[in-house]
Amino acid sequence: MSEALPFFRYHPDPLATGMIEPFEGECPCCAQVRGYRYTSIPFAEDEWPDLCPWCIADGSAHERLEAEFTDSHGVGGGSWAPLPDEVRQVIVTRTPGFSGWQQERWWTHCSDGAAFLGRAGAEELAQYPEFAQMLREQLTLPEGEWVRFAQTLNRAGSPTAYLFQCLHCGAYGGYTDAD
Ligand SMILES: [Zn+2]
Ligand SMILES: [Zn+2]
Repeated sequence: MSEALPFFRYHPDPLATGMIEPFEGECPCCAQVRGYRYTSIPFAEDEWPDLCPWCIADGSAHERLEAEFTDSHGVGGGSWAPLPDEVRQVIVTRTPGFSGWQQERWWTHCSDGAAFLGRAGAEELAQYPEFAQMLREQLTLPEGEWVRFAQTLNRAGSPTAYLFQCLHCGAYGGYTDAD
């Protein structure tokens, strides 16, 4: 039996997004078998696979291994909401990242980081019309082109969309990229 995962405000269901998975091996940071691992390799001087989510959540992977999980330049920026530096630090150093085709970007809204909900394809987009509208405006595509592009979005392939939800107003947002 594994204990409940630590809670990540900006990545609330990392099992669903595939960024945390069950694992029976040892964490390289705490040297314990915790039952789960981070499925990606953080940015650090050395490679540290198989980090347990507790070492991410309590900051020890960042303190001991200098691990970062999202590039700080990818958090917010551009036309997205500015956010306090403390929030950027939590996302960069104590939150599981995700794997994009290009450098990952973390959507921000209402002066805060948003919660990453996972990758989205054409099917998921149909369930989140507000997100589809946001992407269309961001890409400034005319209606016909947008419809054709949206149909090519693939949750497991390329191009794909990255879906976030604002923790304050509930708005959906994010971006798309491709290989
Ligand atoms: Zn650990
Ligand atoms: Zn908001």
